[in-house]
Amino acid sequence: MHEIGMTQNILNTALKYAQKTNARKVVTIVLRLGALRDIKKEWITHYFQYISRGTPAEGAEILVLADPIVCHCHDCDKDFEINRDQYSGEDILCPYCSKQNYTLIAGTKFQIEGVEVI
Ligand SMILES: [Zn+2]
Repeated sequence: MHEIGMTQNILNTALKYAQKTNARKVVTIVLRLGALRDIKKEWITHYFQYISRGTPAEGAEILVLADPIVCHCHDCDKDFEINRDQYSGEDILCPYCSKQNYTLIAGTKFQIEGVEVI
């Protein structure tokens, strides 16, 4: 249930931003979420509605931008995208050179991309 803690962080950040900019209300919060993060958008939205009650962020819309999972191949020096199902499997091969010598370079991000206030 780490969504609760994350959602609390999102709320705190949005409220801090609203305070800093003398805004009355938080309208939208944009999140960037790597495809490998096991976080359900529905849960974040649900918790957010609950914990933001009575704050300037009440009723804010949460937009989630999904980041793809990207690997970097050390043999041919190319980057390639994989999907989540492939990642849970064992054998990910580089689509360019068919080697298995890669590092994950994207897909685990979780960050607040933007906060819109009025
Ligand atoms: Zn390769």
